[in-house]
Amino acid sequence: MTIGSILRAKGPGVVAVGPKETLRDVARRLVSHRIGAVLVRDESGAVLGILSERDLVRAVAERGEAALIEPAEAVMTRDVVTVGLSTAVTEAMEIMTNKRFRHLPVMDSGKLVGLVSIGDLVKARIAEAEQEAEALRSFVVAG
Ligand code: AMP
Repeated sequence: MTIGSILRAKGPGVVAVGPKETLRDVARRLVSHRIGAVLVRDESGAVLGILSERDLVRAVAERGEAALIEPAEAVMTRDVVTVGLSTAVTEAMEIMTNKRFRHLPVMDSGKLVGLVSIGDLVKARIAEAEQEAEALRSFVVAG
């Protein structure tokens, strides 16, 4: 199973903010879309960074309420790790586990085509395991 097959089911939508949007705006965006991270993109669509709820919590813990008026670009992670459509789901899970984050933007020929979260990957793996169990059950019953 590949990241491409997950994106086909999930769709290509990625929630993004501009680099100057404040952390308060980012927090609102995360809540209204019920997600844990946004990409930070410039006007041309280029990916500048990623900002997750963990970055927000850290900024507020360190600088209090003042953090809420800081721009996304001041807090985001700039070195964004991405995967491709043909990356195996197991490999993507390994990347998330080793690097300790829960979001992976998906690129195809240098273009952003989607984003998967650890929740998307776990859901797909569970569905696959259930299908395998069902196939084995039918095999045993048929035998
Ligand atoms: P998360 O577990 O996704 O909430 O993110 C934990 C930390 O990793 C935060 O500092 C994020 O900005 C950062 N992060 C999340 N996803 C990525 C990614 N794909 N590449 C690089 N950093 C990331």
